[in-house]
Formats: sequence, C-alpha cells, structure tokens
Amino acid sequence: MNLEQLSTTLQSHQNWLITTHKGPDGDAVGSVVAWAAYAEQCGKDYLILFPDQPASYLCPFLDGYQWGVYDASKTYDFDLLFALDYNAPSRVGDDMSLFVAAYPAPKVMIDHHPGPTDFCQLTISEPKACSTTEVIYMTLAALEQLSLVNIPMAQGLYLGLMTDTGSFRFPSVSARTHQMVAHLLEIGLVHHLIHEAVYDVNSVTRLQLRGYAIAEKLQLFPQQRLGILSLSKEELKRFAYQKGDTEGLVNVILSIEGFDAGVFLMEAEEGVKFSFRSKGERFVNVFAQTHFNGGGHQYAAGGFYQGSLKEALAKLHSLIDLI
Ligand code: 5GP
Ligand code: MN
Repeated sequence: MNLEQLSTTLQSHQNWLITTHKGPDGDAVGSVVAWAAYAEQCGKDYLILFPDQPASYLCPFLDGYQWGVYDASKTYDFDLLFALDYNAPSRVGDDMSLFVAAYPAPKVMIDHHPGPTDFCQLTISEPKACSTTEVIYMTLAALEQLSLVNIPMAQGLYLGLMTDTGSFRFPSVSARTHQMVAHLLEIGLVHHLIHEAVYDVNSVTRLQLRGYAIAEKLQLFPQQRLGILSLSKEELKRFAYQKGDTEGLVNVILSIEGFDAGVFLMEAEEGVKFSFRSKGERFVNVFAQTHFNGGGHQYAAGGFYQGSLKEALAKLHSLIDLI
C-alpha cells in the first residue's frame, strides 16, 4: 500500500461512494458502516450503495447512515469510489458490475479476498486478514488515525470481525484480531449486543427450515469426509424463507466428527447458489472457481450453477472426488 497516495486521495476527495458485494454479509455491512462512520469523522459526504438489499437482521446496523440499493435509472455523482470486501467488479452482480468497472472517479479497494483484480487505482488487499473490517482497522492504524475510531465505527468493525471469523474461532484469527477487539472494548463497545443482534434474531420458521435441512436433506459421504445439504425453491417457500435464513447453515457439516468439507446448494430463480466450506488441509476455493464459476477464500467459497437443483447436484456428485 502506498500510504502517502492513500492519504492524499482521501484528503482531496469530498464525495465518497461506498460499495460492497452482492448478497452483503456481516463483513460487507460492517465494512461499509465503519467506512461511513470514518467518512463522517473526516467531514466527508458519502453514500453507501448496495447491489441488493441486505438481509433484514443486518439493516438495524445501517440506521442513521445514508444508504441505498443500486438503481440503474439514477445517476450517482461522487468523486471517489470505495470497493469494500470484494476483489472484482463481477462480485457486485450483473446489474451493477459495469457501473462499478466504468465509474469515472478514482477507486480504492479495501479487501481480504485472495487474487484482487486490477480495477482500482489503489488496492489495499490483505488476504491474511480475517475480515475486511480488520483491513480497514489496519489501514487506519497505518494512517495514524486510530484516535478517530468511535463507537459507531467500532460497531461496524466488530460486526465484520465476529461474522467472518465464526465468532473468533477460524484459523484466520490472530493476536492482531484480539488486540483490535481489546481496543474496541476499551473505547466502550458493548460487544454482546452485536452478537445478540446477529445471532439471537431467529424466526421460528428459520429454525424449522434449518432443522428440516439437517434432518431430511443431509447427504453424507464418509469416505470423502464430505457432506452436502440442499434446499429447493419449494422447500424454501414451505418454511417462509427470508434472506439470511440459511446463512452459516453449511458450517454444521464441519461440526460432524471426521468431516472436513461441506457444500450447501440453494435453488433460486436464476439458478443454484453454492456455498463451500472446509477446514484443516482441505481448501475449496479453487474447486469453486474451476467447476462452479465462483471463488472466495481457501476455507469459505461460493459458486453458481445455471440450471435446476437436480442438475447441479448431479454435476457435484460427478466431481465429488475432486473436492
Ligand atoms: P457464502 O458461502 O457465504 O455465500 O460465500 C463464502 C465466501 O465465498 C465469501 O467470502 C464470498 O466472498 C465468496 N464467494 C461467494 N460467492 C462467490 C462467487 O460467486 N465468486 C467469488 N469469487 N467468490 C464468492
Ligand atoms: Mn469478508
């Protein structure tokens, strides 16, 4: 990272457009919240722009901020664009990717996904970081601006850390992560309220959907130490599916003794969305990229199949020894 260039860029631009990836998760929302709070601290004007609506449990974190969902019929007049928690324009989805790629203002990426593509004037990429909010914090530290971290910023930073680390349990967590949390608690962050806001907001139908998936839809392949969960459109409808209801469901496979890889397939209107998870010696991002048009981290990746759930499962079964 060229610190001087970053510092000058931040200082010399007044209108910040803060973007993140499609299907925003806790780290995506935490990152844009932290960056918007930083923008406010710096006296900048800003807009948080999502490719699609965040899940309802994440929306309370956006209260009080300027935010919206991309609308191709609107014009967005900003002089600096931030790409937070994504590494390629394609990650903002078909509707918004050209808008981001062709946006006439300078762009700054802050991210932790491996393999950043070259679409920003400034790229701050730390694949070793456990979350993008950790990269944001490191960036503020490098700029000697940690004194600007206030409670609103801390809430976004902690949201990203907590959700992208499975509540501080993944190998990506480091001493630095805990030092950062210590600082956030020292300034007065009430961390358990963030945990409750994210994890204690289940609807009964969400729990029933997850219970049904585990009881009825889990396919186990002990020889491959792999489990597969899948849910069809009809099953999702039966349990009144809301965005976010299946978040993290794939991780239950990794909690089965002797299993170190899990795949979750969810049928949507446009096709089938894949979530891959693994641990230990096993990585899933190359498989996701090679066979399912996706990618991500070594232990957590996503992908997509254009076709029916049945076809997607058949393709996955045929490739099972390669995962
Ligand atoms: P999830 O399973 O939670 O949707 O995604 C897991 C991880 O894989 C996230 O870090 C996400 O950024 C990444 N990911 C999900 N879908 C895709 C995709 O289609 N392409 C790429 N490159 N990464 C993805
Ligand atoms: Mn992330």
